[in-house]
Amino acid sequence: MYGKGILKGLGVTWKRFWNTYLEDISWLLSGKKRYFTEEGVKHRASKHARGIFTVQYPEERLILPEEFRYVPFLVYDEGEGGKKEVRCTSCGICAKVCPPQCIWIVRSNDPNTGRPIPEPTEFYIDMDICMNCGFCAEYCPFDAIKMDHDFEIASYGRNVYNLEKLLKPASYYASIRPENYAREEEARKAKEAAKAAKTAAKPAA
Ligand code: SF4
Ligand code: SF4
Repeated sequence: MYGKGILKGLGVTWKRFWNTYLEDISWLLSGKKRYFTEEGVKHRASKHARGIFTVQYPEERLILPEEFRYVPFLVYDEGEGGKKEVRCTSCGICAKVCPPQCIWIVRSNDPNTGRPIPEPTEFYIDMDICMNCGFCAEYCPFDAIKMDHDFEIASYGRNVYNLEKLLKPASYYASIRPENYAREEEARKAKEAAKAAKTAAKPAA
């Protein structure tokens, strides 16, 4: 029958429309807040949502899953006296695997010997070109580059991030990706323990 699809579509719209009010009333009666609360947003983003399921951004925000990824950032550990211990060794693997080639790294050199030092003196990522693939974070052997949850980076200018803008503490990484962080720390500790055991087992020269 002609128009059957249209009627079906309108039926879905009407169902959503009325269910929105029915849900609102049921939340009101139970004394809970369906809008502008974490509980309400969580419910509307779930499969149990009836009626309206969109959020009123930016006043309301969806709760991001741990694996959500936007642009990359560089991780540093907080050393003694708050010293930034940058994990990046400027090995260049991330720049090599980056599909749109939007990473530039300049390795540090010892001013006296001219020999390379495993840390970056400059690090740039063109966020306007980055396609958020996460390859850089996947391939980095030092857990030095990770994918951020911050997606509000729109600006009128060009989004080329330098080292200063890219660096974020490991505690920030732990806050957005707690499970990944815990797993990596566990692996790091196991590796260090194995290394220490190997050194201890070596016969003294
Ligand atoms: S972020 Fe990782 S892969 Fe990229 S240069 Fe630094 S250590 Fe190498
Ligand atoms: S997320 Fe992908 S596109 Fe963006 S910098 Fe990393 S490798 Fe390049």
